[in-house]
Amino acid sequence: MAASGEPGRQWQEEVAAAAVVVVGSCMTDLVSLTSRLPKTGETIHGHKFFIGFGGKGANQCVQAARLGAKTSMVCKVGKDSFGNDYIENLKQNDISTEFTYQTKDAATGTASIIVSNEVKTLFNPAPAIADLDPQFYTLSDVFCCNESEAEILTSLEVSSPSDAGKAALVLMERGCQVVIITLGAEGCVMMSQKEPVPKHIPTENVKAVDTTGAGDSFVGALAFYLAYYPNLSLEEMLKRSNFIAAVSVQAIGTQSSYPYKKDLPLDLF
Ligand code: ATP
Repeated sequence: MAASGEPGRQWQEEVAAAAVVVVGSCMTDLVSLTSRLPKTGETIHGHKFFIGFGGKGANQCVQAARLGAKTSMVCKVGKDSFGNDYIENLKQNDISTEFTYQTKDAATGTASIIVSNEVKTLFNPAPAIADLDPQFYTLSDVFCCNESEAEILTSLEVSSPSDAGKAALVLMERGCQVVIITLGAEGCVMMSQKEPVPKHIPTENVKAVDTTGAGDSFVGALAFYLAYYPNLSLEEMLKRSNFIAAVSVQAIGTQSSYPYKKDLPLDLF
């Protein structure tokens, strides 16, 4: 474009030349891939890091350009390496950078993004077999079984929370990250590599009329919390799963006894 010597006129000509003119932000994304999100103040390991180009304005401009629009990006980035790279990125996307300015007075905007790729594997070894492939212990994130399954797997008698703690220890030694053993009206026992001491999570004292499918209600509830409330502590997830399974034992049937969200206390969600 010919420089007219009049900034206002130059702008008008450029705008006329571009069908899509975006006035907005160019941000450098600093993306960390982690197995979970850190808690406030916590430092955790990530397994991958990359730098990307983002910012709502620039994103929209890039999409329009990639669809074939003649585009111009109006923005200001820092006179720094992120700013230089960003301008290069706009050019590579065939976006006019005529009105993309750089300033020494501020740094290019950055966004720290944490992408958690946590998809937890919850393994319920039912029906249990004594010679379970050892990979099931190491590959599952959460290994959840009931008393009789724990007995078959460990050859230990499991009829109390303290027995379950001993069985959980054996399963942990086989490589489990987290072991949960359900104990009917006694709730469950949990143990994890992070806290390698068995912990009993008692449940509600309810009048059970049919316990069929209580274990599946419990595991289903736990899967729900792992997927939708990953920041809850495991203990809290288990308390809530206990509660939900305890509701299921108060009605006849298997799925017919499983409660709906609308029928449960709001503080479970
Ligand atoms: P099922 O084979 O009938 O599905 P399970 O033997 O696999 O059951 P349990 O350990 O009996 O599983 O029960 C699973 C969970 O259900 C318990 O951890 C507890 O939260 C709940 N539960 C079971 N029975 C009772 C009960 N009588 N009172 C309260 N909660 C119960």
